[in-house]
Amino acid sequence: MTDNLAVIEPATEAVLQEVPRAGAADVDAAVERALQAYPEWRALPPATRSSVLHELAGLIEARGDELAVLEARNAGKPISDARGEMGMVAATFRYYAGACERPIGDTIPVSGGQAFTVREPLGVVGLIVPWNFPLVIASWKMGPALAAGNCVVLKPAELTPLTALRFAELAEEAGLPEGVVNVVAGPGSVVGQRLVEHPDVAKIAFTGSTEVGRSIAAGAASSIKRVTLELGGKSPNVVFADADLEAAAAAAPMAVFGNAGQDCCARSRILVESSVLERFMELLEEAVRAIRVGDPLSEETQMGPLISSSHRERVASFVDGDAPVAFRGSAPDGPGYWFSPTVLGPVDPQARAAREEIFGPVACVIPFADEDEAVRLANDTIYGLSGSIWTRDGARALRVARAMDTGVLSINSNTSVRVATPFGGFKQSGYGRELGPHAMDAYTEVKSIFYAT
Ligand code: NDP
Repeated sequence: MTDNLAVIEPATEAVLQEVPRAGAADVDAAVERALQAYPEWRALPPATRSSVLHELAGLIEARGDELAVLEARNAGKPISDARGEMGMVAATFRYYAGACERPIGDTIPVSGGQAFTVREPLGVVGLIVPWNFPLVIASWKMGPALAAGNCVVLKPAELTPLTALRFAELAEEAGLPEGVVNVVAGPGSVVGQRLVEHPDVAKIAFTGSTEVGRSIAAGAASSIKRVTLELGGKSPNVVFADADLEAAAAAAPMAVFGNAGQDCCARSRILVESSVLERFMELLEEAVRAIRVGDPLSEETQMGPLISSSHRERVASFVDGDAPVAFRGSAPDGPGYWFSPTVLGPVDPQARAAREEIFGPVACVIPFADEDEAVRLANDTIYGLSGSIWTRDGARALRVARAMDTGVLSINSNTSVRVATPFGGFKQSGYGRELGPHAMDAYTEVKSIFYAT
């Protein structure tokens, strides 16, 4: 450890806590600890590993309020959201505790004997996570990685390391052997990069920007490391004229402004059938003006500040850009990286605001004429992470759902994430799937065994 990392509270701009800043040597030491712990963790009877993970889930439930306050303050998110997130962290560990004993593999009829497959853990895996949902995204990776028998080295974002550091203490308290879970809090360009380059790290699971994802995939190629990438998005929320417009307009704002828009699943392109555009905009404006932006620790708050001053500057550059402002909500003045929920529209689909991931509380409303144009616009992006379709026509819902190039879709809802269902992207939103049973595949290798008879 060389120096300290001052962790800022986005709602006040004050230093919340100082933590030691890890460097490349700390990564090497963490990987070494993980390698030492791996044989024992891997060989543990599945039922024992399962009960340790259940114990960990129980501890997270018991400390949920403490963790939620830490996350709300460090990431600037509303406390009610942070509490929900800690519930999901616990649920994720419970789900994968169960996965330890789930049947895996196939038996395959072949000549001269019996063939079957088993899945083996990878070894030491490096997990690199962003600042928008710090512990939730870490749990999506740690749950299946640990259940499969791997040891992990987790790198939280420098801006939000606090819940990850606290988590490491809880893992020890839950009875995970020393070295199974390691947290290194330091800059991506040093700590992240060392993990990617480290010869003894078998896999990198990454969530963050497409740009860094690209460099991780390139860096991992030299040692043929396994990689899964969960990257950016520019997801469409498609509202047809026959939809329940009141419900669609009431739900649309928090599908973009939730987590202050810092959400890879944000439905930031609201595509509306032209014949109902005017009515939809009236309903949307009412809903946006009602959003309560303020102190993350207040139970009433629905949206907090942005993560940092530099991020706020980048988000603002889209509002002063090439798309007209339709209306804006309110935000506090004074210290804190506040930003008003903002709706741009009608937006030209070629405008920068309609094409780049803004990752802030800025929505683009884009009109469309018919179903074909809706599908074409929905797919007119380099991304493909999530999306929504609002219609009362069941056949159209299914037609459009199949035609949209996106990893996660909801119909008459804007939800994206469930512990039991796979999550991940098409196109430049990444590859590999998290959550659900599929995530176990991402942390294991298939081994084919032939037994001569
Ligand atoms: P980054 O992709 O830069 O960061 C994500 C994680 O990767 C952080 O832990 C970061 O570390 C680490 N990292 C950065 N550089 C490297 C590297 N060279 N090698 C290994 N790891 C590295 O995202 P940002 O947080 O800077 O956000 C930028 C944009 O990315 C956002 O505006 C948004 O568009 C998108 N994004 C998407 C997310 C998603 O959920 N899909 C989440 C976050 C961002 P550190 O920050 O400590 O330097």
